[in-house]
Amino acid sequence: NWGLGSWPRRRARIAPGDPAIVYEGQTWTYGQLDERVNRLANALIGLGVGARDRVGFLGPNHPAFVETMFATCAAGGVFVPLNVRLAAAELAEVVGEAEVAVLVVTPGLAPLAADLVERAPVRHVVVAGSEPVGDYAPLERLVAGGSAHPPHVPIGFDDIAMIMYTSGTTGQLKGVTLSHANLAWNVYNVMIDVDIARDEVSLINAPMFHTAALNQTFLPTFIKGGTAVLMSAFDPQQTLKLIAEYRVTWMFGVPTMFQALTQAPGWESADLSSIRALTAGGAPVPDTLIRTYQARGLTFMQGYGMTEASPGVLFLQARESQRKAGTAGTPCFFTDAEVVDHTGKPVPPGERGEIRCRGPHVMQGYWNKPDLTRSVLGEDGWLRSGDVAIQDEDGFFTIVDRVKDMFISGGENVYPAEIENALSGHPAVADCAVIGVPDQRWGEVGQVFVVLLPGRSLTFDDMVQYLQDRLARYKIPKSLTLVDGLPRSAAGKLLKKQLKNPRV
Ligand code: AMP
Ligand code: MG
Repeated sequence: NWGLGSWPRRRARIAPGDPAIVYEGQTWTYGQLDERVNRLANALIGLGVGARDRVGFLGPNHPAFVETMFATCAAGGVFVPLNVRLAAAELAEVVGEAEVAVLVVTPGLAPLAADLVERAPVRHVVVAGSEPVGDYAPLERLVAGGSAHPPHVPIGFDDIAMIMYTSGTTGQLKGVTLSHANLAWNVYNVMIDVDIARDEVSLINAPMFHTAALNQTFLPTFIKGGTAVLMSAFDPQQTLKLIAEYRVTWMFGVPTMFQALTQAPGWESADLSSIRALTAGGAPVPDTLIRTYQARGLTFMQGYGMTEASPGVLFLQARESQRKAGTAGTPCFFTDAEVVDHTGKPVPPGERGEIRCRGPHVMQGYWNKPDLTRSVLGEDGWLRSGDVAIQDEDGFFTIVDRVKDMFISGGENVYPAEIENALSGHPAVADCAVIGVPDQRWGEVGQVFVVLLPGRSLTFDDMVQYLQDRLARYKIPKSLTLVDGLPRSAAGKLLKKQLKNPRV
């Protein structure tokens, strides 16, 4: 068993006293974590978790997230990290589709869990901490009650370790199934491309229910025996404080996070002397941002990836971070990537095309969605990204645009079709379209164009009121424009380019 569930044991064997996790001033050593993971794994087996059974975690970054992930994998189960920013209805859809049998939640989210249990068939809810909440048992009771011996469960390297949910271009939620091998190969890529050190101190302040913080930052730090400093939620001032306090060496962030750091009080005087490298990715990285960090003498690298690729596809290594600043670099070590035309033929340097990739870290497919899987993942192993890129003469890729209409607000993918779908249900709305528009704070935010039904009215507040029960807050458009009609092609397809450039 070389699966994820064995990693704490393998690390504890080497250096049990080394700090694995730091959270709110408390430290978990590799030895402590190993023991707690074994106990929790046995307790999960006691709750009936068997091979391939799904265990979910709903909460912000927290040591219990890590313990639940490793313990689930050690028990032979499949870990399903859940996005706390989703609305209850969306979470119920995910929990139901993935058939989550056991759900671990942080105490503040117990009421939300109760709501979910009403709508989806969850067998057990467990609350992170030592106190029960209502009928829900505390995690500490499970840990205390489980045997400390690693469970003997046969686990194959190609078995599914995790299902990570991400939204599609249609706004449809889809579960990306990742095997132990997929995750391990991505970690090898990171170790090689970022050149992770044994004594790395990584700040994990992006949400771990997304692929970048978990698979691209936490797991590589862990496998090398470094320390992960967990922050429950991103806060720029607190980030600067923790960097100095723990002598943080590496941090991943989406561009909006790095932007926020430069605007935080104390940025000018912050002690960043411990930083070895910073990695930005997940959304287009503005050149001005790169220059701001490089001007402070920091190594600022860029990565490009997607949940479906575990996630790394391209990486701009430190050695090229000045000369090729602004590009997403070259394919990761164990990755093939190329830019192709609509027939799948590679295009010459300088020409735009869709980026596709292949490698041992590419997902097994979407959970329970074989048709959708076939639409992005070919028999030949190539994964279509839906992103437009250009390769230069030296082989460096620049991400140009998205084939899909998705935009990214504060690091979260927003899919216009999903919002349009929800708002279409409003009694005053005849037609609507959503586009992403640039925003200082969030990178992009939604702007909605609405055609009203005769005799009806709709204010911005009405729209927010209507959508807030149906969609996560970050998806709700920040501006509303009433129009007489929407530009559509003869085939009825919405011409979003015309909405973005109304005068063209
Ligand atoms: P996700 O599936 O949530 O991981 O989001 C993946 C998408 O984020 C990709 O398909 C891209 O559209 C976008 N993305 C990721 N990294 C970059 C980057 N470095 N530059 C531009 N877009 C990116
Ligand atoms: Mg995605």
